[in-house]
Amino acid sequence: MNSESLKRLRSWFIKNAVALPWRHADLDACRDPYAVWISETMLQQTQVSTVRDYFIRWMKRFPNIETLAKADEAEVFKYWQGLGYYSRARNILKTAKIVSGMTSPCGMPETRKELEALPGIGAYTAGAILSLAYHKREAILDGNLVRIFSRLYELDFLPTDKISEKKCTLDPMVRGLKSAAEIYWNFAREVADSPKAYMHNEALMELGRTVCKSKNPLCEECPLAKECKAFADGRTAEFPPTKKRTEKSWHGTVLVVESADEKILAVNGGQKFLDGQLALPHFESARGAAVGLPAKAEEYINADEIESMDYRGAFRHSITVHKIECDILYIKLKSKAKPPFVWIEKAKAFETFANSFSLKALKKAIGSV
Ligand code: SF4
Repeated sequence: MNSESLKRLRSWFIKNAVALPWRHADLDACRDPYAVWISETMLQQTQVSTVRDYFIRWMKRFPNIETLAKADEAEVFKYWQGLGYYSRARNILKTAKIVSGMTSPCGMPETRKELEALPGIGAYTAGAILSLAYHKREAILDGNLVRIFSRLYELDFLPTDKISEKKCTLDPMVRGLKSAAEIYWNFAREVADSPKAYMHNEALMELGRTVCKSKNPLCEECPLAKECKAFADGRTAEFPPTKKRTEKSWHGTVLVVESADEKILAVNGGQKFLDGQLALPHFESARGAAVGLPAKAEEYINADEIESMDYRGAFRHSITVHKIECDILYIKLKSKAKPPFVWIEKAKAFETFANSFSLKALKKAIGSV
């Protein structure tokens, strides 16, 4: 992206930046790294409109890292309740406890390496903290930026794809990069290689959210329309490519939930490969992410009723074309089994489940009964 485009992007952002509780009216002001961290973590997988109120409530109760570090997990979960992906809240608490003991004058580490070593902080969040709070020339890459870069340069692959040199239509310099992720990050670094990296990063996220939307992008209003290949070619709907439907690998979290009266929670199916079968509840989860209670599990379990929750390892399994990898969480409840769910006597669990997916997980979680 050339300096002219970046200038147009900045002007657009200054005119159109939406007021948000984690954003200063002065867009050039450095932001509180703690507030950046919390807001950006909440915004992963969750809409801005939902995060707004959660963020305000959170900051009232936990205005800084020290206050948060002293809180217990149950209270942190209470302030997170409804946002889902509880592993994010758990990691926030873990990181707060680590960071509150550090002597950094700014409250959070100031290098990518140190930030990415903390629970729950990946390349994206680290880049956001470094650029938005410390005004460093650090790149970020989230779904919004991926969509924009894919359209600007007609990248017909996603950062997670394997790309073949022959099919790639990019110029030789970019083609020399080894992976799809590297190509995307390279574009992100180009945008961030400026004293105004903080504004470029934030402007692109906002542009992706409000103008370069997944469906029906508002190209007529876009400050980057002049250089957008997909717009020029009338192909915006083709970029970014959708993930291939023939995806065969599946990563999930399976729950072995035991009630206070020694019964095990079962569901009917839950995923397409166990449709119609009595199985342990299982939910799709991100590979490599910290293991935590999946958001959808709230349908069955009230977090207030959990007495203990232990990670019991992982297992691999195949069902037809699905290559499954699953983490196992063993959850003990304070409360007794209650309707409307199916509960199986623990002593009979091994006879009752008829699929080896559930039996494997059960064995790893509780051994034999
Ligand atoms: Fe997105 Fe359209 Fe702007 Fe291209 S011109 S970046 S497709 S909004």
